[in-house]
Amino acid sequence: MLQENVSLSAYASYKIGGPARFFWRAKTTSDIRRGLKEAKRLKAPLFILGGGTNLLIPDKGFGGFVLKPDVMTLTRRGNIVTAGAGVSISDLLEFTAKEALSGLEWAGGLPGTLGGAIRGNAGAFGGETKDSIVRVKSIDVRTGKIAVRKKNACRFNYRSSIFKERNGKEVIVEAVFSLKPGERKAIRAGIREKVEYRHSRHPLEYPNIGSIFKNVPVDEIPRSRRKELVRNVKTDPIPVIPTARLVSQAGLRGVSFGGAMISVKHPNFIVNVCEASAKDVVALMSLVKHEVRKKFSIRLTEEVELLHWEES
Ligand SMILES: Cc1cc2nc3c(=O)[nH]c(=O)nc-3n(C[C@H](O)[C@H](O)[C@H](O)COP(=O)(O)OP(=O)(O)OC[C@H]3O[C@@H](n4cnc5c(N)ncnc54)[C@H](O)[C@@H]3O)c2cc1C
Repeated sequence: MLQENVSLSAYASYKIGGPARFFWRAKTTSDIRRGLKEAKRLKAPLFILGGGTNLLIPDKGFGGFVLKPDVMTLTRRGNIVTAGAGVSISDLLEFTAKEALSGLEWAGGLPGTLGGAIRGNAGAFGGETKDSIVRVKSIDVRTGKIAVRKKNACRFNYRSSIFKERNGKEVIVEAVFSLKPGERKAIRAGIREKVEYRHSRHPLEYPNIGSIFKNVPVDEIPRSRRKELVRNVKTDPIPVIPTARLVSQAGLRGVSFGGAMISVKHPNFIVNVCEASAKDVVALMSLVKHEVRKKFSIRLTEEVELLHWEES
């Protein structure tokens, strides 16, 4: 059903952002198609919203049409699990643990929905969403046609996929995973370990959108700075040095602007400590980029997505 002027901060882990001009929540494939037709009829720019855990939404909101695919299928047949794009990763993991199916434990504590994880091939602790994917079903935004792609055709790459390359031109509806039979207790313990690690390292006590900048590949570090900076290299899955360390060495830990603060606990997070605005966050992001460039001659690139909207 079409809704108007819906606050997006309620749908974003940052709790930041103005309203969407139009908002459409779709529980089924045909609901999604109806939503796409409606967006076309209204001639409104389209944005697909998952769990809103990787997004910075502008204070003025989004003047277009937000489609939220809330397809919640979750079924098992043998070792095959089919999950809807709207299923949260935590619900998916709870399901696999209950069904004693192993293979997704690496995703313990990963926020967001399956749709967002597939689009960005989300990964952590050496695992990636693509690892146990068999196929993905999506809908072409322009034609409304359904595509079912086998894993290879999804062009999964480091934090990328064909869905990201096509940049909002396809709505992910559902994915099929192939998992392995396991022990319920061991699966739960594997998930819990990752959740606990995240709680100990990340400032989860404040609204946030995870790491703001990508880690820096070792081969992008200027030769003159390698001796000083290249140590304790992390494999992510290519060799990188953590951006959090650069931000810390630039003396920016705990720096705040308005209601936003560069986390003391993990300096690659900018946390919403007190009713921060998107402007506050953008100011801190610019400061971090500027200082890291000045001090280390390194250009940081954003890991989070900024929802842009130009009024025509
Ligand atoms: C505390 C914290 C820790 C995090 N840790 C990690 C981590 O370890 N590894 C990692 O990779 N990420 C991490 N993230 C980032 C984020 O959780 C992931 O990128 C997640 O997969 C985003 O999913 P989402 O549903 O919230 O997507 P959203 O933020 O809603 O959207 C992200 C993008 O996906 C698109 N999208 C969403 N759903 C669909 C769909 N159904 N069809 C087509 N496009 C869609 C959106 O249009 C947008 O472009 C972390 C975030 C937080 C807050």
